[in-house]
Amino acid sequence: MAIVLYPGSFDPITKGHMSIIKQATAPKLFDKVVVAILHNPNKKACFFTIEEKLEMIKELYKNNPKVEVITSIKAAVDVAKEYNCQAIVRGIRGLSDLDEEKQLASFNRDLSRGKINTLCFFAEDRYQNYSSTAVREVYSLGKNYSKYVDPFIAQKMRDRRRNI
Ligand code: ADP
Repeated sequence: MAIVLYPGSFDPITKGHMSIIKQATAPKLFDKVVVAILHNPNKKACFFTIEEKLEMIKELYKNNPKVEVITSIKAAVDVAKEYNCQAIVRGIRGLSDLDEEKQLASFNRDLSRGKINTLCFFAEDRYQNYSSTAVREVYSLGKNYSKYVDPFIAQKMRDRRRNI
């Protein structure tokens, strides 16, 4: 079975992330994508907690047997090993991502002694520039962020505003 790990912060998951998951699970590509919500020490502020994100992304893919959603405090390469993933999948929006992803891929290849390589996808054209950071910014400005995320996630964000 061809399994791939998709690690990230997903804070929140956008249509850009969803496009990467859709492409990785396309017929004859990967049998399963393990979406791993990991703690990113470089991103201190967290919009949703890891537990909230786990619950939300699980709900989003509850009818898709090719998507498993997990959380871990381990390094991506160790999570890949734990879930029998042959590779890591990441996404590229533009040149700044390319540099970062290239470094990360080489770091992960090194840490796994050459066993875990990274495959990068581009989101579908209309979602290519979507980012969690932009969604959080639009949200904090009180503007409409609903086109960037699934309606279920948009509702969760609205609920969050009501609870503040
Ligand atoms: P991280 O905190 O590890 O950067 P993110 O949740 O921000 O995690 O993103 C996870 C991965 O998804 C990264 O490789 C990121 O570049 C990619 N990604 C996010 N949005 C898009 C998009 N719109 N198009 C392509 N790749 C994307």
